[in-house]
Amino acid sequence: GENPRIDDIKTKIRVVPNFPKPGIMFQDITTLLLDPKAFKDTIDLFVERYKDKNISVVAGIEARGFIFGPPIALAIGAKFVPLRKPRKLPGEVISEEYVLEYGRDCLEMHVGAVERSERALVVDDLVATGGTLCAAINLLERAGAEVVECACVIELPDLKGRERLKGKPLYILVEAH
Ligand code: AMP
Repeated sequence: GENPRIDDIKTKIRVVPNFPKPGIMFQDITTLLLDPKAFKDTIDLFVERYKDKNISVVAGIEARGFIFGPPIALAIGAKFVPLRKPRKLPGEVISEEYVLEYGRDCLEMHVGAVERSERALVVDDLVATGGTLCAAINLLERAGAEVVECACVIELPDLKGRERLKGKPLYILVEAH
């Protein structure tokens, strides 16, 4: 590539074959977190992109969106809203179910966390089929927010998750095949 920061980030992501089940090439970002320079470069690249975009909400998807989302939110002066798995949030919630390869899952958001017309960024570590990001977009739009973009560290482009994001732009740092 032509961006040395992104090239270095890519080398710090460990690929674990057949985890958590046969056939899956698991993209492990915990090894990226062990390198303070590469971890900071990751956050800085997102902050440089979003700092002047008038974003007031960073919505992070459980669990690895909780690692990358908060430092971005703090740096751009936005609130952080956790989008959680079912039955974790104590207040009143709205829920979005989505289909997985085997079975279903669900994301929830607290009612009142986001106000109408707020500009939101959705953050996760990785986009595969796009089902998770699609559920996140739906939650924010049901609350009246405008989803400006989705941001992930890694995309698995062969799965075409980008096409499931309801026309929202997707920004990624690294492609994995
Ligand atoms: P999807 O909804 O299919 O786009 O899946 C994205 C979610 O599943 C993200 O929260 C990822 O953390 C996780 N995920 C899916 N596939 C992988 C993979 N190959 N390596 C690591 N995480 C993955």
